[in-house]
Amino acid sequence: MTDCIFCKIITGEIPSKKIYEDDDVLAFWDISPQAPVHFLVIPKKHIPRPVDITEVEEQLTGKLLRIGGQIAQENGVEDGFRVVFNNGAKAGQVVFHLHMHILGGKDRPWPM
Ligand code: AMP
Ligand code: ZN
Repeated sequence: MTDCIFCKIITGEIPSKKIYEDDDVLAFWDISPQAPVHFLVIPKKHIPRPVDITEVEEQLTGKLLRIGGQIAQENGVEDGFRVVFNNGAKAGQVVFHLHMHILGGKDRPWPM
């Protein structure tokens, strides 16, 4: 997707503070953190919203959770973090490339 900000982060066209990267997923710090620990985990494949996930992407999207959990542990918030997927503008989705927020480091890290 040529005009997708997260696709541009994947290609490096837009800089980001990367935490983890492999062939399938990328994790990076959120540019506007809503908690002391706030990062995003995204698939490299452009999937606009959670409702657009298809059966062939089940493993890929499950991987977001596994990688997110590992990074949360590495950043010392394994005993309390929130996982958020926004779906659609009404829910506050601004970037239409599937992304998982992980928020931790304070009590009840919310809202988005
Ligand atoms: P959402 O509201 O669920 O679409 O969340 C989009 C998130 O992407 C927000 O938390 C933004 O702060 C974050 N974001 C937008 N642009 C960037 C960027 N260039 N680098 C890192 N995070 C970004
Ligand atoms: Zn994209």
